[in-house]
Amino acid sequence: MASLSNGHSTSPPNPNPPSVHIKFTQLFINGSFVDSLSGKTFETIDPRTGEVIATVAQGGRDDIDVAVKAARQAFDFGPWPRMPGSERGRILMKLAELIDQNTEELAALDAIDGGKLYQWCKTVEIPSAANMLRYYAGAADKIHGEVLKMSRQFHAYTLLEPIGVVGHIIPWNLPTAMFFTKVAPSLAAGCTMVVKPAEQTPLSALFCAHLAKLAGVPDGVLNVVPGFGPIAGAAISSHMDIDKVSFTGSTQTGREVMQAAAKSNLKQVSLELGGKSPLIIFDDADVDKAAELALIGVLFNKGEVCVAGSRVFVQEGIYDEFEKKLVEKAKAWVVGDPFDPNVQQGPQVDKRQYEKILSYIEHGKREGATLLTGGKAVGNKGYYIEPTIFTDVKEDMLIAQDEIFGPVTALMKFKTMEEAIKSANNTRYGLAAGIVTKNIDIANTVSRSIRAGIIWINCYFAFGNDVPFGGYKMSGFGKEHGMEALHKYLQVKSVVTPIYNSPWL
Ligand code: ADP
Repeated sequence: MASLSNGHSTSPPNPNPPSVHIKFTQLFINGSFVDSLSGKTFETIDPRTGEVIATVAQGGRDDIDVAVKAARQAFDFGPWPRMPGSERGRILMKLAELIDQNTEELAALDAIDGGKLYQWCKTVEIPSAANMLRYYAGAADKIHGEVLKMSRQFHAYTLLEPIGVVGHIIPWNLPTAMFFTKVAPSLAAGCTMVVKPAEQTPLSALFCAHLAKLAGVPDGVLNVVPGFGPIAGAAISSHMDIDKVSFTGSTQTGREVMQAAAKSNLKQVSLELGGKSPLIIFDDADVDKAAELALIGVLFNKGEVCVAGSRVFVQEGIYDEFEKKLVEKAKAWVVGDPFDPNVQQGPQVDKRQYEKILSYIEHGKREGATLLTGGKAVGNKGYYIEPTIFTDVKEDMLIAQDEIFGPVTALMKFKTMEEAIKSANNTRYGLAAGIVTKNIDIANTVSRSIRAGIIWINCYFAFGNDVPFGGYKMSGFGKEHGMEALHKYLQVKSVVTPIYNSPWL
């Protein structure tokens, strides 16, 4: 392992990563792999090297239309929404089993396509996706409404019905995990769907479509159409025959998705968008553990996570000690080939993202923040960036306001709890927040005062299938995970009937 001049470690790209066989590169529509109608393709790139991994069929507006027709047919006339929930659950369980049998292949696809850590994907992210399926498989036969006692001689009951054809627009940072975060509850609900994976990372979604077919998901229920956002993605959000669009991505694109939905058929929309999450560390914290949390909070998945704790507020009594420890830890953090088990941070997903991050770093320097460590690209091949820490950051600086989506953190000092709350809320986002303290009163007060969808006390990135997750403010609306996510794909129908021959009728 070579060492860089500033102390960061790096390891060279591994030319022979384990078992990366690209089997599926066509669109998956109505149970078959097919070319795009236009015959167009696009290249998916290995961010470790910038080289082409494979050429993938490029879905266009017409392909989305064919996929929607298949999903519509499967919803209006097919068995999936009509079969007993237990049967859908059985098929989802089978799919979970197939994922478990193919964790290495899926992990390799996400590592080579997205620069994600192979070992992490294999041992955590892909097995968690299988468990996500199991969670919703168990819920599929527990979907029921209520009986309502009306006034006078009527009574009513509610039915929870699948919402219909869903369009899922998926981001590139957690390709397999995000695929199942959206697909698992909507399948359990009895919906049919068209999934558009991100153009940076289409490979694992196509493999998952193949596994879904093997598991017994009927043709037309799950269609996967890779393609570019402004074309294939926009065709989903503006389609007249899609009943709901579930989007995860940037706030700007989320706004476009919502506008397209409003201008077309007023389809329902759920948006999981950007974040600029605060991590607030109080004087009573164990400084070493807090620094560890702050480091993981921003460097996990190379900072390409919507909940990254990219604004770190530290109380003045421990600020200097904390800063020193954080820098030490960042310098020991290993950047390199994501297939190397010793590596902690792989390359950014693509050239555009890499350049965007580097330009934010330059901006931070120009704005007057002090660069404590990092700030540069690593190596001369691929899209690697050093873990980067800024101090002397002011709340109104761009690096404290914009989502950078990279390994860059902004340290800020505070005196009182009230000041920390005010600063933490000084953002247009509201996805997540972390609090580090041993004081239960501080923890309770701060967790109730931060406007964000999930609060982690003395931990970070603690997700669970049963824990709802989603934004406040401009981080979006509509929850992922838990029963809330299942209900996003259901709609309530009220049925009213007289209980005897009433004079009112
Ligand atoms: P980023 O800018 O970080 O790549 P995006 O929000 O643009 O994030 O991408 C997330 C997903 O949204 C991807 O699948 C992308 O193809 C899709 N997308 C991008 N632009 C649009 C659009 N105009 N309409 C619908 N989907 C889009």
